[in-house]
Amino acid sequence: MELPEREIAYRALQSRDFRFDGLLFVGVTSTGIYCRPVCPARTPKFEHCRFFGLAAAAQEAGFRPCLRCRPETAPDLASWRGTSSTVSRALALINEGALDGDSASVEALADRLGIGGRHLRRLFAQHLGASPIAVAQTRRVLFAKQLIHETRMSMTGVALAAGFGSLRRFNEVFQELFHRPPRALRRKTSSSRTSLDTGVTIRLRYRPPYDWDSMLDYLRARAIAGVEVVENGHYLRSVKIDGATGSVDVSHLPQLQSLSVTIRFPQVQALPAIVTRVRRLFDLGADIETIDTHLSRDPLLAPLVAQRPGLRAPGGWDGFELAMRAILGQQVSVAAGRRLAEQLVANYGEPVSKEYASHPKLTHAFPTVERLASIESIAVGMPRARQLSLEALAKAAVEDPNLFRPFGTIEETVARLRKLRGVGEWTAQYIALRAFREPDAFPAADIGLLRGAAIIDGKQATSTTLLTRAESWRPWRAYAAQHLWAADATARSALRSAHA
Ligand SMILES: [Zn+2]
Repeated sequence: MELPEREIAYRALQSRDFRFDGLLFVGVTSTGIYCRPVCPARTPKFEHCRFFGLAAAAQEAGFRPCLRCRPETAPDLASWRGTSSTVSRALALINEGALDGDSASVEALADRLGIGGRHLRRLFAQHLGASPIAVAQTRRVLFAKQLIHETRMSMTGVALAAGFGSLRRFNEVFQELFHRPPRALRRKTSSSRTSLDTGVTIRLRYRPPYDWDSMLDYLRARAIAGVEVVENGHYLRSVKIDGATGSVDVSHLPQLQSLSVTIRFPQVQALPAIVTRVRRLFDLGADIETIDTHLSRDPLLAPLVAQRPGLRAPGGWDGFELAMRAILGQQVSVAAGRRLAEQLVANYGEPVSKEYASHPKLTHAFPTVERLASIESIAVGMPRARQLSLEALAKAAVEDPNLFRPFGTIEETVARLRKLRGVGEWTAQYIALRAFREPDAFPAADIGLLRGAAIIDGKQATSTTLLTRAESWRPWRAYAAQHLWAADATARSALRSAHA
């Protein structure tokens, strides 16, 4: 992994440069503590500093997290490190808890990625400077620390939510790291205890800038009634994980460069998986400055980037849901695709209990794979051929639980998806972009993209010319696509109002 020169890293530390937040951590050998570059504490001596690109690397080297600058609140850019998509995928799985619990192992994780355990460890050492186990342990400690600081959850709740097998193990780890029990880290406040049942709120930091308005516009245009609500600057949706249902409520805190996320859910162990989904949907891990800079090198794309700095590529909440939505959206407008999804939810969605719904309009969870696979003939108002695609997709997803899990390269992923009935190149690339968060996925045949390309180039584009054109946007073609879609949407709404 590329770290800045020691002198540059030290200057970033001296000036408390927030642009290095999440990209750089400093371990101080005289205190044994590691910090964010923005730490308000006195700057340590140059010779006492060791620099790391990842909190887990600092922690594996024996440093413990600072209680003042709180490394757990740095933007989590880890999945962007290095050039290895295998590492990114492994990190996503670890964030969901793949290395938590007694039966979890690096071998099993590597197996899910289609490689051997030794290879995975080597990739982690090379790209992250930390082992998979250290990454998982650090994640548990930092997530627990965040829950202790930001919520009023019970210590048992925190231990379970962060993926510790037991309260005893949780206490041991904290005692060893901080020389005090976990509850000693909580600041005393008068507010009463909270739990995931009644709702816990945490903050998720991003690397600025963040184009929140464009993100909300995107989500609003596609919001499925019953499952999603976009209102007063908030995005709310129902959540279903492992048979339980609940909800999330997400809003923007621009001054804190964070999103505020309130989660209500009956099972506390699901918290990391829910937070991971929020990060994915809102694309919080993007090193957006690097991406915007790269795309701005194209003189015709540069004005679009300048117009919407920090534009993100929204992820899919769930792979299966996203794939179903992609098929429902084939050959129809965004609004028509949304109405079809609403029919699907009305017919087959699962009711969400009022207790866990953060908005009265959140009435249903998106239909499950199992439910849809069990239906003889899925009733939605679209041609039979596309209904058959929906049915085939549901059956394939039941047969292969890893169908929408990251596995192999982008080319392998697209090839695997294309074997499904009704999934062509466009749909496969679209699923890769949204569901697998492939930053280089690019559905070149998309009509909106072709129109967007015509706007910047001033001439008609075909999928072939656009693919050639897009070579220089790699490895971030997904973000270029987002800019082209946004430009197209703006041009079309201007056209509509001109005719109105
Ligand atoms: Zn600090």
